[in-house]
Formats: sequence, C-alpha cells, structure tokens
Amino acid sequence: MKLSIVVPIYNEVENVDQLVTAITNALASVSYEYEIVAVDDGSTDGTRDKLARLVDANHRLRVIELRRNYGQTAAMSAGIEHAAGEVIVTIDGDLQNDPADIPALVAKIDEGYDLVHGWRKDRQDPWLSRRFPSLLANRLIAAVTKFPCHDLGCTLKAMRREIAADLRLYGEMHRFIPILASWHGARCTEIVTRHHPRRCGKSKYGIMRTFAVLLDLITVVYLTRYSLKPMRLFGGLGAAAAALGLACGLATLLMKLVADFDITGNPLLYGALFGIMIGLQFTLMGMTAEMNTRTHYESQERRPYAISRLRGFSRLTQPASRLANTELAA
Ligand code: UDP
Ligand code: MG
Repeated sequence: MKLSIVVPIYNEVENVDQLVTAITNALASVSYEYEIVAVDDGSTDGTRDKLARLVDANHRLRVIELRRNYGQTAAMSAGIEHAAGEVIVTIDGDLQNDPADIPALVAKIDEGYDLVHGWRKDRQDPWLSRRFPSLLANRLIAAVTKFPCHDLGCTLKAMRREIAADLRLYGEMHRFIPILASWHGARCTEIVTRHHPRRCGKSKYGIMRTFAVLLDLITVVYLTRYSLKPMRLFGGLGAAAAALGLACGLATLLMKLVADFDITGNPLLYGALFGIMIGLQFTLMGMTAEMNTRTHYESQERRPYAISRLRGFSRLTQPASRLANTELAA
C-alpha cells in the first residue's frame, strides 16, 4: 500500500459523503494503491452511521470509531497508527483542505523529502478571529524554534510512515508535527495548498486556541531542546538564582559590617532568601526531570536517537546486539 489518507472527523455529517467523493476523484488518475482512514472522534450527529454505510460501499475506506471525543490530535494519532501506507497524508474532514492537492504532496515525498506540509496561503477563514492570531502565532513559533514554516495549523501534510510512527502526539500537538519531525531528523518542505471556506457544519475552535497553541510552544521548545538534558535548563536557572541570592546576601552582610546597615531592615535580605530558595528548587526540579527522562525512555524502550538506515548488517550471522554482548563477555 502506497498511501494512507488519515482524516479526523468530529460531527461533520453534511461533509463526509462529499469528502469521500472528493478524495476518490482527486486520486482517480494516480497509479498507486491508497486507502482512506477516517477517524470518527466521538461524533454525536449521525456521522458515525453515515461512515458505517460508506464503508460497506467503498473498499478503500476504513473507519476507526473512538469511544468519545478525544480531540483532533488523538484522532490523528489513532489514524496514523492504523494506517498501512508507506506515505501518510493527513487532511481535515470538513473539505476546507482540497484533496486535489494530495498528489502534489505525495510527489514531493517521492522527490526524497520525509515530510511536506501545506501552506494555506490564501486562507478562507475569518480574519480577526482566525487568520490574524494565526499569523502572529506562526511568526512567533518560527522565530523561537527557527523552523521556517508559514502555516503550522494546516492539517494537510504528507509524511513517510517511519517519521509518523516516531511521533508521539499528546494534547494538541498535531500542530507541531513538522517541528517534532524535523527534530527527529526529517527533511521537511512546504508547498502552497488550496483552502476553501467551510460550507457545512461548524468550526470546532475559536480564538482561545491561539493561546493554547502558545502554551504548547513552551512544551515543544522544552521537548526539542532540553528533554534529554533537563538539568542544563533547570540547573542553569537554579545556579543563576542562587548566585543572585548569594550576591544579595553578601551585600547585606557587607553593608552591616561597613556601614552598620540593619540586616533585617535591608530589602536585599529578601533577595538573598528568595534567590537561594528558588535556586535550590530549580536544581531539585532538574534532578526530578532527569529521573523522569530516564523513566520515559526506558519504560517505553525508546531510544534517544533514530536510525535512518543500517547497511551491511545482513552479512552478520548473529544479530549485532548479541555480537556486542559476546564481545563484552570475552
Ligand atoms: N476535529 C476532530 N476532533 C475534534 C475537533 C475537530 O476530529 O475534537 C476534526 C474536524 O472534524 C475537522 C478537523 O478536525 O475535520 C479540523 O477541525 P475544524 O475544521 O473545526 O478546525 P478549523 O478548520 O476551524 O481550524
Ligand atoms: Mg476546518
């Protein structure tokens, strides 16, 4: 199977018929095999029944029904995990993205990229509540993460299955897929994609999402820069706070000795107390985070690296890891 198209769907009863038709039409002339993985994210408006009917009539359609509404990110991960294709395309289920862009995304992957994200250059959403906040957020994210990207919010993306399988998505993290993937070493690129106004159904988000995305940005920066070495961050902050506290303490003491300035009446005393306490807190937080990192990687048997290819290993008569063990034992 070459391609899996993963679609998160929540209460889109008026859209699902057209969506499946639009995808089928868009891919009518491609030569490769594909499947549509629709994830029903706990819809309550009849979407579920409609999808169940469509599945019987379309051998390319698969449906994953989630027990309740878990959110778009969880729906996308469920779809990605059950997808059989070598390439995975994610797309919105409300026809705002245009399935006609899918072949171009796949062509980019065939050129050698690991991930291609769409840019809704001519985005058809309200300006004040959606486009403007999204513009600011995208600029900020690009500046902070140094990842050159115009439109992280665009669900229309294509990625190789290995890249998708490496992503562990929680909360609302699907927006940061390109950044997380590039952190795992994926070669990313962007293409301009079409965008249409929503014709049926309602958007599931409002302006508050922008603030949520900004909080997620903190998580992403922490994950990509410090999750493997949290002590560098917390220990550094702790050392800075403690140094400031010590300096304040010394100043308090000197002022007492030299000018007989009252210690308890000296505002710098508070600086000394807080600085040292906060410094200690940060350092302890760093130690806890270090332990967490180890638990995280070891409990899931995850590695702090991703191998893109092994060469020459098939020549070995026994698996490499066992060989390493015998060498150690010898
Ligand atoms: N969606 C979902 N679960 C949710 C919210 C949204 O699966 O909890 C789906 C929704 O059905 C749509 C896609 O995610 O297919 C994008 O949602 P929406 O169109 O509301 O977002 P917008 O385009 O307004 O940013
Ligand atoms: Mg939409």
